[in-house]
This record gives sequence, C-alpha cells and structure tokens, in this order.
Amino acid sequence: VQNPLKPGNLKDPAIAALFSSKDPEQRYNDLREIGHGSFGAVYFALDNESGENVAIKKMSFSGKQAAERWADIVKEVGFLKKIRHQHIVEYRACFLKEQTCWLVMEYCVGSAADIVEVHKTPIFEPEIAAICQQALNGLAYLHEINRIHRDVKAGNILLTDCGIVKLADLGSISAACPAQSFVGTPYWMAPEVILAMDEGHYDYRADIWSFGITCIELAERKPPFFNMNTMSALYHIAQNDPPKLQSTLATGETAPWTETFYSFVDQCLRKDPEQRLSTRACLNHPFVAGTHAKTVILELIRRTKRVVRELDNFQYKKMRKLMYLDE
Ligand code: ADP
Ligand code: MG
Repeated sequence: VQNPLKPGNLKDPAIAALFSSKDPEQRYNDLREIGHGSFGAVYFALDNESGENVAIKKMSFSGKQAAERWADIVKEVGFLKKIRHQHIVEYRACFLKEQTCWLVMEYCVGSAADIVEVHKTPIFEPEIAAICQQALNGLAYLHEINRIHRDVKAGNILLTDCGIVKLADLGSISAACPAQSFVGTPYWMAPEVILAMDEGHYDYRADIWSFGITCIELAERKPPFFNMNTMSALYHIAQNDPPKLQSTLATGETAPWTETFYSFVDQCLRKDPEQRLSTRACLNHPFVAGTHAKTVILELIRRTKRVVRELDNFQYKKMRKLMYLDE
C-alpha cells in the first residue's frame, strides 16, 4: 500500500486535483523575489496567459522533514483553493515541479510589516485602524467557518494596490475547537498557546491576542519582547502581565494614540481568553468601526511609495519590491 502522504505522491485523486499538470516555467515569467520564509521564497511574476501580475510561493518538500512539509503544503493549498473572501488573499493556481510546489496567488504590493518598516516614524492611527478593520473582516470569516489562523502578524497582512487588506499565509490554520499544538511565531503567540504545551486547549481567541500584538507592532514597528531570544520571550508572555501599547515613543516623545486605541489593544490582550473581545466585538469597537478603510489605505500606499522613491540606493534596493507595479 502506498503511503498517501509520501511527498509528491498524487495517487489520491483529492490531492492530485490540487495541482495542475502543466509546466509553470512556461506560464510565468520575470520572477523576482519579494519575500521568504522557512519553506522557500515568494516571487512577483507575470502570468503570460492572463497578462496579470501574480505572487508565487515556492515551497520545497525535499530533504529532511519532507513528509511534514508535504502534509503542510497539501493543507495550505487545499484550504486556500476552497476559500473566496474579499479580505483573504486569492488563490490562482498550483503546480508541482522538481520537489517544489508553486502556489500562485493574487499579487499584493507588500505586507503591513513592510509598510511600517519603510516609515521612520509611526504610521498614523487612522491607517492602523483601517488595516485592522479589513484584516479583522478576513479573520471574522475564518472564525465563522471554525478555523484559527494561528499566525496573525503584520507580515501576514498584505495590501493590494487597490487599497484592500488581505489576510495571508494560511499555512498554520487549524480547525478551531479545540486546537492543541504549538504553532505560530513566538512573539505574537497567546499565553494559552504557549501553555497548551502542557495543559488544556485554546480556540479562536488565540488569534485575537496575536491581533492585539499586531496592533502594537503596527504602532511601534516591533512586537513586545522582540529584543529577547524566542525562549525568553515565550517565558515573559506566559508569566507577565499583558503588554500594553506604550505611551512614550522610542524617541522619547509622547505617543500620538487616542484613548480608544489604548482601550482596543487592552481588550485584545487579556490573558484570560474569556475576557478578550470576540472577533465581532473587535469589529464593533469604536477604534475600527467608523473608519473609511479603503481611502485611507490607498493614501497610505501612495505615501509609502513616495518615501521609498526617496530612499538612498541601498535602502531602495531593500524596499524596491513595493514599487514593482510602478516600474
Ligand atoms: P511564510 O509561511 O514563510 O510566512 P508567507 O505566505 O507569509 O510565508 O509569505 C512570506 C512573505 O512573502 C510575506 O510576508 C509577504 O512579504 C510576501 N508575500 C506572500 N504572499 C504574497 C502575495 N500574495 N503578494 C505579495 N507578497 C506576498
Ligand atoms: Mg508569513
């Protein structure tokens, strides 16, 4: 009997149906790296069939842990392919080539993490609120269909050139009730996810914690404890009182945030998951409820590109990926 999870095995028709048998090298041109992670890299490319710009996430499954990687790939692709939501990155196609999966998606200009990195001063509170509102819509959808994202952070929140925010990176998603494994990126992890290693379970509210941490990241450019190694950070998240949005900037100036923003972050970052805002309650919170997200985000992208254009050569090279549609 063939092991159905043998890396690259397409005997199972449900798995085979996820992949096109065509050669992606023939279809996509002009690949340029725009991001990378543990699995490989993400590229900007031109789809010469549709004339559309796309993003291609290449995930290799050769070598050590090939079976786990293959299982993760099948899960991520299968899930992304099923989902259609305005605030979740759109699936286009998927291929296998030489022990590598090519996951083709709609192209986004960059992540919220890229945007805050470009600006040397904090982005404006209405811009943070706009990103939050749209990302929360994507998150609310996942929670409604009983999934936990488990890796909510600014690097997994993407912005399109049309001013739409998309939740991305569904590689860590799980069925919501209840989840048990230790998954995510340490600094954004909820205390109960860290503690789930030896007790209990967690649910969708772990994403709300990570979302609160993401708010701090958007405001302060890094999540709390980022200067520590991951083991110390995990220890502090589990042991300390919840982190707060700082009232003083790194420069010593008073932070420009309103009481509404402080209260929103506080209510996402309760150590007891029961005490956190629900996803719906987040969307109804005055911090995000009234924003005209699309206009604000279009302007944020415009002003970010303006800053990138003025960077010196070295810095420009790093951030050039935000400019591909304009070059
Ligand atoms: P990982 O699982 O390694 O975190 P991601 O799916 O988050 O992989 O992709 C890594 C990075 O690649 C993202 O943080 C983002 O900068 C970039 N990226 C991913 N998908 C896209 C996309 N559709 N459009 C533009 N950039 C993307
Ligand atoms: Mg990611």
